[in-house]
Amino acid sequence: MRKRILLVSLSATIIGILLFTLLVSNIFYRDIVRRTNEQLKTYAGFFDPSQPFGEEYAEAFSARLGGARVTFMDAQAAIVADSFGDLGEASRSDRAEVEAALLEGEGFAVRRSDTVGKNMMYYCVRLGEAQGGGLLRIGVEASSQTGVFIGALPTMAWFLLLDILFCLIFAWIATNAVLRPVEQLTRAVALSGGKPVACKYSELQPLAKMMNEMTGEIAEKVARVEEDRRMEKLILDSMEHGIVIFRDPSDVLLINKTAARLLRCEQGDPIESFAADPEIAAILAACEPSSVYRKIEGRDYNFRFTFPPESCVLLITDVTESMAAMRSKNDFIANVTHEMNTPLTSIKGFAELIGAGSVPPERVQGMARTIIKQSDRLANLIRSIINLSAIESDELPDYEVNVSELAAELIGGFEPKLRKKDIALKMDIEAGVKVMTRRERMVEILNNLISNGIRYNKEGGVLEVSLSGGAAPRLTVRDTGIGLSEEDKERIFERFYTVDKSHNGGGGGFGLGLAIVKKLCKRAGWKLEVESTLGEGTAFTIEFCPKRG
Ligand code: ADP
Repeated sequence: MRKRILLVSLSATIIGILLFTLLVSNIFYRDIVRRTNEQLKTYAGFFDPSQPFGEEYAEAFSARLGGARVTFMDAQAAIVADSFGDLGEASRSDRAEVEAALLEGEGFAVRRSDTVGKNMMYYCVRLGEAQGGGLLRIGVEASSQTGVFIGALPTMAWFLLLDILFCLIFAWIATNAVLRPVEQLTRAVALSGGKPVACKYSELQPLAKMMNEMTGEIAEKVARVEEDRRMEKLILDSMEHGIVIFRDPSDVLLINKTAARLLRCEQGDPIESFAADPEIAAILAACEPSSVYRKIEGRDYNFRFTFPPESCVLLITDVTESMAAMRSKNDFIANVTHEMNTPLTSIKGFAELIGAGSVPPERVQGMARTIIKQSDRLANLIRSIINLSAIESDELPDYEVNVSELAAELIGGFEPKLRKKDIALKMDIEAGVKVMTRRERMVEILNNLISNGIRYNKEGGVLEVSLSGGAAPRLTVRDTGIGLSEEDKERIFERFYTVDKSHNGGGGGFGLGLAIVKKLCKRAGWKLEVESTLGEGTAFTIEFCPKRG
């Protein structure tokens, strides 16, 4: 800005000085011409008509006029004598000053003389009868307008130097005066931190107002962008999915907290685990959307790679639950098929033998009993599976069930079995204990626990059923049976888990009873616990904690 002002003011002055010099030299030149004309007329007045009109006087007259050119011509303008030498008698009637003198008695001209080879000013006048009407011409060397201009150049150069100096000082002061308030305003706006600034110069007030509005808008936009970024970061970091955007593993653009934890790297750090994983390295090289599964800290994760232009997006999803559900579903189907296969094979085998008539009549009855037993087993299995899946979709309302009465009633049904194994029954049931549930659910729980307490008890053992009331009623079914190892204690609630596989197909169940009990307790929010010592006995306790909400 300063330079521009300086340059403009310097150029303006230089052009101004040049134009001024041209104008002045033109005025001077005109003045010189006018004065010379008058001077030549005065010179002509010194002509002495008594002197012989010839060469000798021309030179003498020229000398008297300080060396001016003196030419005598006859009435037809043929040269008679010339102080610059013998030029013959050639006519000079075509010269402007001579032509004018012939016509009007006198003439003046400024022109270049071919004879002398210089710019000359001539004055020509017609003489009297004594010179036969001849002509007198006096000429002096003329300085041209360019000459005058060139002559003025040294002075002009000094003026220019002075002028440039003056211009520099003036421009410095002027630009400072003009720019300082603008600079002050700019600095004030820069330091204001988005607050409005005041300006005392009225000319700059519109600018200040505009800058205030703009800084206000910018501050607002910056705040909005920062808030958006904060929110984005918050959302990304609170996501349970991991997300990474990168150009290549060493140029990570974005990584959220979950991804950083799972990939063990920080924002901006290269992801080293990718290079060490050949399958992932191959996906990144191919740039084709793909998925891989990885186990990290005991959990299953799906790594989904997509490739938008010039980047790669990785979405890491925890699929532990869905994988477990899938595995459990597959295991369930395999177990069901396996458990059904055994009784079915036996039923089919015996039925085919009877059908072929190859069985002696005395064995048919025994075979029929086996068929009925295996059919019951199959029916039990199907009933258990139906029960298990019914719990999931059971949305029927709860009501108060008198567990004390129900337990006493059910125990009665187990009398034959207890007697068969010579098991002593101990009942410690508080009267009137009620729990919010449905009768069929409580029947399922009691039947499973009591039948297990008999089935896995020893001959001549003890079965103890106790029920206490209060805010959280407790039911305990304790036996003095075979007990459970620590490992089995963890697993007995899994579907189809049986400790002794030889039970299957025999007197034992399918490993679904405790899975049903656990599922019912979980749905109701009850606490189910098992205590057991291998070889000594087992106790199952349910605390019927009332449902919250
Ligand atoms: P099952 O119909 O085979 O009894 P459960 O789900 O009721 O199926 O029980 C699972 C397994 O847990 C049984 O196979 C048995 O090995 C073990 N179990 C259950 N109750 C007892 C108990 N009271 N004492 C010892 N083991 C038990």
